[in-house]
Amino acid sequence: MKKYLFLLLVMLNLNTVHAQFDSIFVDKSLRFDYTHAGNFETEYFALDALIEEPFWGGSKKNLIDTFDYGEYCVKVFDAGSKEIIYSRGYSSLFGEWQTTGEAKLLVRSFSETVIIPFPKKPVILSLFSRSHDGVPEEKFSCNIDPSSYFIRPAKAGKISIFDIKTDVPSANAVDIVILGDGYTTAELGDFIADCQYFNEKMFAFEPFKTQQHKFNLRAVMIPSEESGAIIPATDEWPATALSSSYYTFDSERYCMTYDNKSVRDYAGLVPYDQIYILVNSTKYGGGGIYNFYSLSASKNKLSGEIIVHEFGHGFAGLGDEYFDSSTSYDDFYNLKIEPWEPNLTTLVDFDKKWKHLLGSKTPVPTPDIIDFQETIGVFEGGGYVAKGMYRPAHDCLMHTFKGHVFCGACEASIIRMIDFYTQ
Ligand SMILES: [Zn+2]
Repeated sequence: MKKYLFLLLVMLNLNTVHAQFDSIFVDKSLRFDYTHAGNFETEYFALDALIEEPFWGGSKKNLIDTFDYGEYCVKVFDAGSKEIIYSRGYSSLFGEWQTTGEAKLLVRSFSETVIIPFPKKPVILSLFSRSHDGVPEEKFSCNIDPSSYFIRPAKAGKISIFDIKTDVPSANAVDIVILGDGYTTAELGDFIADCQYFNEKMFAFEPFKTQQHKFNLRAVMIPSEESGAIIPATDEWPATALSSSYYTFDSERYCMTYDNKSVRDYAGLVPYDQIYILVNSTKYGGGGIYNFYSLSASKNKLSGEIIVHEFGHGFAGLGDEYFDSSTSYDDFYNLKIEPWEPNLTTLVDFDKKWKHLLGSKTPVPTPDIIDFQETIGVFEGGGYVAKGMYRPAHDCLMHTFKGHVFCGACEASIIRMIDFYTQ
C-alpha cells in the first residue's frame, strides 16, 4: 500500500513539473545556429538560422543550469516579465581554438548551435562568454518571436533510426544519440555492431555501470559516400557524411568535425541530450567538449576507454588530468583563477571542488608517492601543465587508460550530472 501511495505521489509531482514546463514551452526544440568568429582575444556571435526541431530530449524540471560549467552559457528570458526560463552552460571548438598558435595569426569562424525548449511566447536569448578572469559576460542578445514564419522546420530525414535502448521517458533520461561517420551503405550493419560495442563498453565502467538504466541510446544510420576518416597529414580525404578529421588543431589524435550543421541536422531526428559521433576508423583518436559533442574512433583497441574518457568531457564537463603529453594549446587555463572543471583545481577556491571527499589526514597538496596512490587527494599536475594545476588522484580515466577507473571526484561529478538529467 505504502509503495502505491509513494508511486502516486511521484506521479502527481511529475504532473505538476510537466504542467509548469507545458505552461511556457511546447514539447519540441528551438535550434539557434550562429557563427562564432574571432581570434585569440576577440570574438563575435552572429545569428545564422532558427530551426524548429520535432523533439525536446531534455529535462522538463531542471530548466535552469546549476553547475556553472563551460566557457559559454545560453540564457533565455521571458520577453514580457524578463524572468529567466532556461539556461545551459557549454563549451565549443572555437573556445579551444582561441588557445592555439593559429589564433594569434588569423581570424576564423565556426558554426555553433544552442538548443532550447520551444517557447510559447516571445523570449530574449542571450549568449555569455567567460572573460580571461572567468567572469561570464553577455556577448549577444536577440528577441525571438516563436510565431515568426522565419523559423524554418527541420529537414525531414529519410534516415533510419536504430533504437539500442529506450526504456525511460526522454524527460527523465540521459538521451545519447550516436551518429556514425565514415560508414558506407554497405557498412551500416557494421555501424550497428559498433553501437552495440559502444553500449557494452560505456556501461562496463563505473559509475555508468550502476546507472545504465537511466540512459537511452539511439543510433542514426547515416550513409557516407566513402569509408573511414579524414587524415590530412597522409592526404586521406574520404567523402564522409560528417567530415570527421584527425589532426584537429594539428594534433594527430584529436579527431573532430567542423561540420556542426550536419551533426545537428542528424542529431535532431531523435530526442537527445548528448551527441556521440562514432568514426569508422582503427586509428587512435577522438575528442569531447562539454555539452557540444563527443567523438571516438570505433575500431581502435582502446575504443572502450576513449568512449568513456571523451564522454567525461562532453557530458560531465571533466577536464583532462594529464600534463605529460603534447597538445596544441598555449595557456589553456588561467592559473590565477579556479577553473570551472569539477576535477581540476588551482587551489584558488578549493572549497568549491572535491575537498569534502578528502580524508582528514590527507595532506594538501598530496605527494604523488606510493602511500597515496589509491587516495583521493590534491596532486600537482593536470590540465596540460605540470605546475600550478592539481588533480584529484594519482591516476584516473581522465589521465591515463592504465587503471580503467574514474577517480572519486570524477565519479561523483558524473553522478551529480546524471541526477540533474534524470531526477
Ligand atoms: Zn578524475
